[in-house]
Amino acid sequence: MKLILFGPPGSGKGTQASLLAKKNNIPHLSTGDILRFKLQKDDNFAKELSQIISGGNLVPDSIINPIVADKLLSNDCKNGFILDGYPRNKFQSNFLIDFLEKNNLEIDLIIDFIADTTTVKKRIIERSKIENRSDDNIEVIKTRLDKYFTETQPLASIFKEKFKDKFFEINATQEIAKIQSDIENRLKNA
Ligand code: AMP
Repeated sequence: MKLILFGPPGSGKGTQASLLAKKNNIPHLSTGDILRFKLQKDDNFAKELSQIISGGNLVPDSIINPIVADKLLSNDCKNGFILDGYPRNKFQSNFLIDFLEKNNLEIDLIIDFIADTTTVKKRIIERSKIENRSDDNIEVIKTRLDKYFTETQPLASIFKEKFKDKFFEINATQEIAKIQSDIENRLKNA
């Protein structure tokens, strides 16, 4: 099963991706998690990444595109994947569409998590009490949401047009269990 998840930060993509990954035994490819893992190293690259991420800005495409390409071609992804947090802009989206076509990778479903700004801000603030993320604070959230609405959200219509009935919009303001069951029901017909 090959899935792509769209949606603003705090819309619950990560939570649902983990649930789906466990249930279907396929990897959850969160570009945010992959990048945060790289921050643990004590080198200049980690310092550069840390500055970008803690400011809520996007890491350059020249860094993220090859990371995603390598992962998607790895043995881990031979039975499928859940892509969460990528693509985030037009360049990444063109790169991904081209990459999928060249490698004969057919996406089963794209899930777009629809949630209003008030809900996602509230959730990110709640998450900041549990996880210690440098970018989960009110000023940086503003930048991240701005980036999402200007650069990422417009991609949804491109994917909707291209993938047609494989594009599924979910009301992400619902309870976790309800979102999960809506997705599972949709996947039965994927
Ligand atoms: P996330 O956990 O998906 O909210 O990502 C956290 C941060 O990692 C983002 O605010 C960006 O700085 C960086 N990041 C994650 N995915 C991407 C991507 N596809 N392109 C560029 N930067 C990314």
